[in-house]
Amino acid sequence: MTSVSPHKKAKALKPTSRRPAKELCSECGLCDTYYIHYVKEACAFINQQIGELEAQTHTRSRNLDNPDELYFGVHQDMMAARKQQPIEGAQWTGIVSSLAIEMLNRGLVEGVVCVQNTKEDRFQPMPIIARTPEEILAARVNKPTLSPNLSVLEQIEQSGMKRLLVIGVGCQIQALRAVEKQLGLEKLYVLGTPCVDNVTRAGLQKFLETTSRSPETVVHYEFMQDFRVHFKHEDGSTEMVPFFGLKTNKLKDVFAPSCMSCFDYVNSLADLVVGYMGAPFGWQWIVVRNDTGKEMLDLVKDQLDTQPVMSQGNRKEAVQQSIPAYDKAVTLPMWAAKLMGVVIEKIGPKGLEYARFSIDSHFTRNYLYVKRNHPEKLEAHVPEYAKRIVEQYKLPD
Ligand SMILES: Cc1cc2nc3c(=O)[nH]c(=O)nc-3n(C[C@H](O)[C@H](O)[C@H](O)COP(=O)(O)OP(=O)(O)OC[C@H]3O[C@@H](n4cnc5c(N)ncnc54)[C@H](O)[C@@H]3O)c2cc1C
Repeated sequence: MTSVSPHKKAKALKPTSRRPAKELCSECGLCDTYYIHYVKEACAFINQQIGELEAQTHTRSRNLDNPDELYFGVHQDMMAARKQQPIEGAQWTGIVSSLAIEMLNRGLVEGVVCVQNTKEDRFQPMPIIARTPEEILAARVNKPTLSPNLSVLEQIEQSGMKRLLVIGVGCQIQALRAVEKQLGLEKLYVLGTPCVDNVTRAGLQKFLETTSRSPETVVHYEFMQDFRVHFKHEDGSTEMVPFFGLKTNKLKDVFAPSCMSCFDYVNSLADLVVGYMGAPFGWQWIVVRNDTGKEMLDLVKDQLDTQPVMSQGNRKEAVQQSIPAYDKAVTLPMWAAKLMGVVIEKIGPKGLEYARFSIDSHFTRNYLYVKRNHPEKLEAHVPEYAKRIVEQYKLPD
């Protein structure tokens, strides 16, 4: 068992409002625990160390000369999948929740770190360690806000738990991997989701009010592969807003500074990643990074329809054109945005090429953000793979 004394000491020293990453803090929750002691090494925004942590987790860092690894990180396998019987109310078909339930039911883990919402607010995150399938199910669907998932880490040590599954996004998982050895666990499983453009709760409100016709009834939304935001409302209806019609001038500052400086869209350090952006419309995208991830996926394979990943189209021109358009906060009139959405859906990138489109657009934007706002961090903070991706494009100063 790991000694806890250094953590206790750190807690005693901890002022409650301490956030060493300052404005770049993604509120992952680490600093709410006595593991704040490790924050200078562990925080994704203070100490970028994805390559080293990839080697620690997957036995090697990604091969930058392999085009798929450059973009999607270390992996053994990728596929498109969907549950034969989707879970109602899940973000997609509920592969994440199903996997967590299966691992708990089979006794592979004693608890699952996941995030429910508070009683008062469907989008206010409330991280928990779930110990029953019901508690896991109650955490289904995205809370599209910064969520302090690691704030429950102290409870793990206190509970004496030895086998744990953590569900989380890239910044949470990077900090988790950095303190993994201090948790005293026999086995840690990590189920990641890709993540981009997250917001504070106040930022989410602004996004909903600026973009949806009925912000108060939105239960779920996603930036879909058909280049539209799909809002699902309480009455079951779906509202679709083309990406190109978003009020960029009003939304420019809505995303958290941490997300504007993030280069781990694909959750490089998880054992298994479940997203959607590398899959055809309507399907989820699975990336198996290592043997632990394969072991996890095998548990639910008989509940899934799967198909090989595909890739179609060429993203490059669309990405290059979007760089100055975003920079100048260009917003198209809705008729033009709809038309552009229809055209790009027909001829635009699909499958893995859509994922590359999204990664390129976000990495170029984020590179410019860090360069302009934190120039002293640029060299060390941007991982080598992201520099190579950004180098493909011509950027404004
Ligand atoms: C903020 C956010 C942004 C995302 N952006 C993308 C994207 O750009 N491209 C892409 O391919 N996929 C993205 N995803 C993943 C995708 O939206 C789905 O979450 C994923 O495909 C799993 O769907 P599901 O139906 O299997 O999940 P469900 O069974 O509904 O389970 C969802 C799980 O997500 C966890 N969760 C919810 N909110 C958070 C949060 N804020 N932080 C950490 N964990 C959370 C819950 O604990 C729950 O276990 C994002 C996810 C999140 C949380």
